[in-house]
Amino acid sequence: MDFRFSEQEEAFRREVEDFINEELPAGWTEGNIHWPGGYGTLEEFEVIGPRMAQFRRRLAEKGWLTISWPKEYGGAGRSNIEQAIFHERMSYYRAPGGDVATLIGGPTILHFGSDEMKKEWLPRIAKGDVTFWLAYSEPNAGSDLASLQTSAVEEGDELVINGQKIWGTVAHVSDYAWMVVRTDPTAAPHKGISLIIVDNKSDGITIRPLMNICGFHSFNEVFFDNVRVPKKNIVGEKNQGWYYLMVALDFERLVIPMGGFRRTFEEIVQYARETKHNGQALSRDPLIRNKLAEMAIEIEVAYMFFWQTAWMLDRGLMPNIEASVLKLVTTELSQKLASVGTAVMGHYAQLERGSKWVPLRGRVPAGYLDCISALVGAGTSEIQRNIIAMRGLGLPRK
Ligand SMILES: Cc1cc2nc3c(=O)[nH]c(=O)nc-3n(C[C@H](O)[C@H](O)[C@H](O)COP(=O)(O)OP(=O)(O)OC[C@H]3O[C@@H](n4cnc5c(N)ncnc54)[C@H](O)[C@@H]3O)c2cc1C
Repeated sequence: MDFRFSEQEEAFRREVEDFINEELPAGWTEGNIHWPGGYGTLEEFEVIGPRMAQFRRRLAEKGWLTISWPKEYGGAGRSNIEQAIFHERMSYYRAPGGDVATLIGGPTILHFGSDEMKKEWLPRIAKGDVTFWLAYSEPNAGSDLASLQTSAVEEGDELVINGQKIWGTVAHVSDYAWMVVRTDPTAAPHKGISLIIVDNKSDGITIRPLMNICGFHSFNEVFFDNVRVPKKNIVGEKNQGWYYLMVALDFERLVIPMGGFRRTFEEIVQYARETKHNGQALSRDPLIRNKLAEMAIEIEVAYMFFWQTAWMLDRGLMPNIEASVLKLVTTELSQKLASVGTAVMGHYAQLERGSKWVPLRGRVPAGYLDCISALVGAGTSEIQRNIIAMRGLGLPRK
């Protein structure tokens, strides 16, 4: 077993690092308050969007929005380890490296889409021309997603969609819904579901904002009232959507901003070095040193899971249990990191974002709130433990 990167991988890592240094707007990393593992501290998209458009265009030109995709679909034809190296570096600098379309929808289309669908969607996704949001959850279907009610009824070459989705992150700033609908109400719950791409501009769609605990508009509730969608937008086979969804969820659980954990931790350690309490640097306090050492170990462990999943993908293995382990470990890490940050900064970590006294632009107090939801999005921690118990340990369902 060799834990080192190859020469080619090391060279690619340097190339990514050079690119970030040249292209990322000055002050971006320090100014961005995004918390690793959270969704809710994504700053107002209207503010971020225009500043990031040029950066994303440059990424698309290099095929780096879709690094591991084949070149024929606009990817860079690189390995999954190289893709992981890219995401690790990008998240270290809090740079935007991917989204629902490039990291979840596109890879699912690559696996299950028809040739026609691949040709229609993948190059546009790779160029960054289209963005998706995830339209899975409903008011009465979250963990038990197979009970979803939003219906899609065939009429000629179209499907007519009626129902409601909720918690749609970034729905208000995306082009298309990556959506699960019920296409056969007579079949067993998970056998009558299809996965479909729906244009946000279609008649009959109403998007309403939901403010999150951090005070940002990232969630939405979305209503579908007789929305007409071409049947060709169904991914793979009709009524097979549940199977594709399971794979898409694995892709989602592999989207981990690993470098962001390291970066934020380094900033907290630096704070402990520079800040004095009772005339002594915080870094000399045995309790604080202890917490920081513990955190350093947990980050390294998470890194091992992170590299392992990329390694598996390169060998044609689908990390299923591993995706759940990685999601669980890193979202809980997100919470522990916020706790450690709060312990190190004491009362200063209770100040509001915008206060001149709050360290790291208020990243820690915002992250402390944001990391609560990290344990819920993409399947709760309880659901991940269920998956690990059933599929990993072979324990009975109940
Ligand atoms: C930050 C964030 C972003 C999100 N983004 C999106 C998005 O973009 N698109 C989208 O469709 N959805 C999104 N969601 C919704 C998310 O997928 C659901 O909230 C999640 O699946 C849980 O569903 P629920 O909220 O209905 O809770 P419920 O399923 O009602 O669960 C309530 C509690 O019961 C527990 N529980 C439920 N079933 C079991 C079980 N079988 N065993 C043990 N415990 C169980 C859960 O773990 C939880 O603690 C997002 C959620 C968050 C927090």
